[in-house]
Amino acid sequence: MHSRYYHKLAFILCLLLPWLHTNAQQFDPFDGNAAAFHVKLSRYFKTEEDEKAARVLVTDSINRFKADTAWTLNNLAAHLDTYSRLLVAIERHNQYFRLRTYINKNDSLARQAYNQVDEVESGLEGITGRMLLQPRFAAITEVQLKQYQLTKYKFLLSKAKEQAVHSLPEHDEQLLGKVSDDMIDHLTDRYDNLMSSITGDSITIKNKKYSPVKIWSGILQNPDSVLRRQVSEAYYKAYSDHAEVIAAALIDITRQKNILAKLRGYKTATDRVYGRRLQLAEESVKKMLGEMNQYADVLKNYQRVQANQIKKQTGLATVHSWDASLPMGFTWQPLPFAKVRPLILDALAPLGDEYTRHFAALLDPANGQMEIAGGPNRVNENTSVGFIGVPESLYMKSYNGTLGDVSRLIHEGGHAIHEQLMSDSRIVPSYKYGPSILYEAYAMFNELLLLDALEKQEKTNDGKAFYTKQFLDKLSHEIFTSAEEGAFEQGLYDGVAGGTINTRDDVDKLYAGIMNKYDSYFPAEPQRKSEWINKRLVFDDPLYNVNYLYAILVSCKLYQQQHADPKTFAVKYTALLKNGFDAPAADLLKKFMGFSLDSGSLLKDALGLMRDKTSKLEGLYAR
Ligand SMILES: [Zn+2]
Repeated sequence: MHSRYYHKLAFILCLLLPWLHTNAQQFDPFDGNAAAFHVKLSRYFKTEEDEKAARVLVTDSINRFKADTAWTLNNLAAHLDTYSRLLVAIERHNQYFRLRTYINKNDSLARQAYNQVDEVESGLEGITGRMLLQPRFAAITEVQLKQYQLTKYKFLLSKAKEQAVHSLPEHDEQLLGKVSDDMIDHLTDRYDNLMSSITGDSITIKNKKYSPVKIWSGILQNPDSVLRRQVSEAYYKAYSDHAEVIAAALIDITRQKNILAKLRGYKTATDRVYGRRLQLAEESVKKMLGEMNQYADVLKNYQRVQANQIKKQTGLATVHSWDASLPMGFTWQPLPFAKVRPLILDALAPLGDEYTRHFAALLDPANGQMEIAGGPNRVNENTSVGFIGVPESLYMKSYNGTLGDVSRLIHEGGHAIHEQLMSDSRIVPSYKYGPSILYEAYAMFNELLLLDALEKQEKTNDGKAFYTKQFLDKLSHEIFTSAEEGAFEQGLYDGVAGGTINTRDDVDKLYAGIMNKYDSYFPAEPQRKSEWINKRLVFDDPLYNVNYLYAILVSCKLYQQQHADPKTFAVKYTALLKNGFDAPAADLLKKFMGFSLDSGSLLKDALGLMRDKTSKLEGLYAR
């Protein structure tokens, strides 16, 4: 979930990487004490022998649990209690080996054990899932829930019931796996392989040849406007040259997903994915995407403010999208860790004592919870590592003091503290799993608070403008790019099902139609018509993009609530985080925070925030 998230953000964050700092090599973020920024694995198991012995015991217990298929209403609560206990026990091994394989991707013993643990855990989940699909459990009434002490498992049982409606007989599932799932994997692999082989027509700069694909994001910061245009055009052409094949793959993936959803009893693939991921009906998502159209002026207004400032700074008569990322007179200085901890704790103070106390502990190297000091053979990932009743850690491939790194720290650390709070309140372990929109909303909220704190601390006008622009880039990317992608995918699924999308031109037209509405640069840049090719999630995880739209809307709402009522916010918010996911996302937000996920006011509020920040930026630029 998190790697995807940052895959999408990679474009924004790469602009903040040390491209600007020639002395990045000499900078030591840990002041000579990098050794202290590795995790203490003994928090999971005292020794490797202890781990091995515990693994044998839990594997045996899970095998015994799998062999016992006599589940009745009378013993259902006992079975679910045992399932919960075993899940926590096996997860301790799972998280431990996950960490070890992140730290050293060549540790084949750890990888082997990780796979074995994963298999044991799948067995546990598999038997529990199959047992709960039985009609007698799907038919449980409220009275029975009380009678058989099952109240705390109510949501778990209701989810199983939902699944039962859409599950096929085992034989059919196997057939579908062989025919359709394999085909989709094959098409996605073809896309991934083609994408990694694309280099484009090389461009000569000072007698040296470069691939436009490789240098594009860096060139966007180059002061030479002719070069920026030339590389950008070559970059778009590199992908556009393969658009026929890639469009065919995309249309076939879409067709397969539509068929699979229908076979499982859903109206459409969109209906299935929105229901499972967002817990919202398709009509509701379509309505939200439709309403977005009314607010295109909010993005265009921000683009206008930014373009005017670039004109003022560079003297360019016309500003293009490839001019919009030029540095604006402020340079971020790499931040040593010693300064990050107080900065983050200050930024998160509005979330209350309990939250910040946990974050302070996480960021204290003495506690051995951080694994961020870099090293050879590390996996390229940034994530929290933990589970209910299992020690919590924070893994980052490295920390080098860029603004991107500080954002990752407060984002992934946010996931870790959320898990810690759920763990502290001893929720039903499987209620740790919730819809990613809420997970991501909480973590992105931290990023917004960080940018606020940085802007407040900053003394210079240019610096304040820089952080305000970062805030706006974050909002415009998560709100508008997600809305564009969401509308594109919705249009694609509808068009393929309806027979109106059959060729590369059809896909280009769909994309251009949406972009012309939102993006003020797009109409003058026909080179970008096949830009959808670079939207990897559209191929690798179809219909996921719209999740970011909902997540940021929730973040913005939390941000506004915190500012409007700082006194009561922290208490309500901490209670929400501690609760875990024992109800649909919309119900939880309503119950704890008093707002609804399914309403136009969420959109209006977020765009109001974007308008305010745009006026602020315009004011700062005018000084
Ligand atoms: Zn995340």
